[in-house]
Amino acid sequence: MDLSIINADLHLHSPYAGGVSERMTPRAVAENAPLKGLQLLSTADILHEGWQNIIKSELKPTGDEAIFEATNGTKFILGAEVCSADRAHHLILFPSFSKVAEVKEKFKNYSTDLNKDGRPRLRLSAEQIAEVCAEAGCLIGFAHAFTPYFGLLATRFNSYKTAYGSQWKNVSFMELGLSADTNMADRISELHNLTFTSNSDAHSPWPNKLGREFNVLKVKEISFEEISKALWRKDGRKCVLNVKFNPLEGKYHKTRCRGCLIYFEPKTAQKLNWKCPKCKDQIKKGVDYRIDEELADLPAGKHPEHRPACVHTIPLSEIIALSMGIKSAWSEKVQIEWRKFIDKFGTEINALINVPIAELESINKDAAIYVEHFRNGKIQYIPGGAGEYGKLVRPGQQPKIEMFDDTQKTLGEF
Ligand SMILES: [Zn+2]
Ligand SMILES: [Zn+2]
Repeated sequence: MDLSIINADLHLHSPYAGGVSERMTPRAVAENAPLKGLQLLSTADILHEGWQNIIKSELKPTGDEAIFEATNGTKFILGAEVCSADRAHHLILFPSFSKVAEVKEKFKNYSTDLNKDGRPRLRLSAEQIAEVCAEAGCLIGFAHAFTPYFGLLATRFNSYKTAYGSQWKNVSFMELGLSADTNMADRISELHNLTFTSNSDAHSPWPNKLGREFNVLKVKEISFEEISKALWRKDGRKCVLNVKFNPLEGKYHKTRCRGCLIYFEPKTAQKLNWKCPKCKDQIKKGVDYRIDEELADLPAGKHPEHRPACVHTIPLSEIIALSMGIKSAWSEKVQIEWRKFIDKFGTEINALINVPIAELESINKDAAIYVEHFRNGKIQYIPGGAGEYGKLVRPGQQPKIEMFDDTQKTLGEF
């Protein structure tokens, strides 16, 4: 049996979903994908009629009804994200446009925004959505499992089996989200059933967003059946590696105030009823605390046999920006340097992982030194929280974290 490896990013968005760049066209995504080393991406937002038309006009069909192709060979699989009545996000992969239509017909009476919002809200429970998907032969899993607001396991449910009820066996995968990783999620024993996925949820095609997380899948070819087998771990097809952010860089890793961004010991935040004494805004519970203290039933380090490794990465453009002392990874100066590495070494992942440092130095000495720091785990983080990404800190510098001091009395206590 001839199986090969592909890099897949199965969750992104179109400009029809909120907060997404107008530049997020199939053409732009297809152009940037090979630079990141990706072969397969989700079309995203495929329930939306306007986006369907763009996908159909910009991409060519292939022999597989779920897979569409750009002129440079980048492949796309029909996919969407929906929001259930329980305010959780679910990812769906469809076997064909006719199944997209079939599912849409069933959702139609339970949503007014199927053609308005790329990520439609449905007045259906997680269980009902999973049932529709199972009947249509679609793949379903939950997105960014633990992130506040729309993660299935963020607040409303402590168990995905409870959330999906009778349909839990039809759920094959779970997206870890930027603020968690395999080591964290495997502390919850019921999640050992699921294949973990790691996707970008990109809202723009820039190289620090697209493919900032991806899955390495072992499949025979790029087809719906093969992707399905990989997510269900059948016939030797599987996810063999999750490439992820360090959870410290995720937007919801630590417990933090939404307003003043000060960090809290979660137990202190609980005592304060999740209200910040400094600025009165809401304190957002960190994913680390949610998992460790509220959901975990296993000690760290226990993984099911099928679980692949999970490696932490940093987008090359962020590493270059750090080396140059520039804040924004998409500034033009950074992009010019990034492009030089890609032109010389083919893909970002190659430059990050494989190319000897001495060769990287021939392009940009400072950036090469920072890639070396990355490879040696020397880049530090100010952890993210309350919707704010974590920040990279140069080796040798002290990451500054402002903790709420609970020895200070709050006004209410006087
Ligand atoms: Zn989402
Ligand atoms: Zn505050």
